[in-house]
Amino acid sequence: MTFATLGLIEPLLRALETLGYQTPTPVQAQAIPAVLAGRDLMAAAQTGTGKTAGFALPLLQLLTMEGPKVAANSARALILCPTRELAEQVHASVAEYAQHLPLTTYAVYGGVSINPQMMKLRKGVDILVATPGRLIDLFRQNALKLNQLQTLVLDEADRMLDLGFSEELANIYRMLPKKRQTLLFSATFSDDIRLLAGQMLNDPLSIEVSPRNVAANTVKQWVVPVDKKRKPELFVHLMRKGRWKQVLVFAKTRNGVDALVDKLQGLGINADGIHGDKPQATRQRALDRFKASEVQILVATDVAARGLDIEDLPLVVNFDLPIVAEDYIHRIGRTGRAGNTGEAISLVCADEVNMLSAIEMLTRQTLTRKMEPDFEPEHRVPDTDASGQVVKKPKKPKKPKASGGGGKRNLGKWVDSGDVAPAEPSIKPVRKVPVFNTGPRKKK
Ligand code: AMP
Repeated sequence: MTFATLGLIEPLLRALETLGYQTPTPVQAQAIPAVLAGRDLMAAAQTGTGKTAGFALPLLQLLTMEGPKVAANSARALILCPTRELAEQVHASVAEYAQHLPLTTYAVYGGVSINPQMMKLRKGVDILVATPGRLIDLFRQNALKLNQLQTLVLDEADRMLDLGFSEELANIYRMLPKKRQTLLFSATFSDDIRLLAGQMLNDPLSIEVSPRNVAANTVKQWVVPVDKKRKPELFVHLMRKGRWKQVLVFAKTRNGVDALVDKLQGLGINADGIHGDKPQATRQRALDRFKASEVQILVATDVAARGLDIEDLPLVVNFDLPIVAEDYIHRIGRTGRAGNTGEAISLVCADEVNMLSAIEMLTRQTLTRKMEPDFEPEHRVPDTDASGQVVKKPKKPKKPKASGGGGKRNLGKWVDSGDVAPAEPSIKPVRKVPVFNTGPRKKK
């Protein structure tokens, strides 16, 4: 299968050729014809599956072929993203795909001055990428009208709800024209997401390109049990032993990020951190420097790192396990992208055993444990398995299993056999409900 056989127009094919995309990924193979046919979509796709191109390519084609010229202070398509970083990243991809098309694109998000954004919107933009809060601000200040909107995309919808945006989404929903195409993408599908889908989508085609809640099997994952207080020391030890070149590290809290960065910098290690307390410009600079390999270790919280697309990232380290098990899937989705192989190592202390158990249950696998000599924990991490059992009694440590692996492949050659699960579309009923959950806002 090629992009041409999916019915994409020549200017898009030319852009894809420049980017080195040769074969559509499974989510692209299913989403592109459905979106071109005008269908609403409910797509379960892991990060790294190529979902951005899956919605952006047909969207760009429809906007080129159909509809009136964009009016002042209007947008013809809106892509909602949970974080500023993801908005920037999605916008960068959209702009690349649109390079030979006569369409305008722009991204708006909070944490930066609203005035330049208002100025930019005066002439209208064909595709607007936005985070929910800033979109509402712009709408309320009359800088943006949505009556011309043809298509709405909800990207990483699960994450938007996790971040407490359900109220904002309900408000945005009221601002939208009734007649429109809606595409909903989510790595994981909770009941809340299905409620949201039932409210926002019209007879959607439901596609799923990987088993629900299962992490990419191109990522080799294991756990190193350790006492909490020795985690920084173990991290440095593993880094030196494994000669790690570039690592994205996840810590649970903003303080945790700062403490680890301080420790690493104190040892002369080239490290930087990103979290929600840092100004947007600082976060972006750290990320750009990491992408340019000018920073070796980037330590991040989940919110700051959400959706980051860093090509060929070989290793993700969970310095702390995430509190929400689904974040584990998002975190390790930073590696093993687009058919590459990657590694994800989690440093786990006894306090985190319930989180480990929740992750194993969600991903339906027992993570291999590898004891590091001289770092065996005094506080034993009880055994766990994919059934959610935490075995309290001491047991002999399990023999490490061989998993994943294989050589590194280049981006641009999408491998769709074995690396990603079945590409069969599965049509699932979507519950229609009068209103979706606008329950209490969760804290960020
Ligand atoms: P996404 O899941 O949209 O974040 O995409 C993950 C990565 O895969 C990005 O770096 C894309 O540039 C890349 N990618 C997307 N589609 C393809 C394709 N058909 N062939 C090769 N790489 C792709």
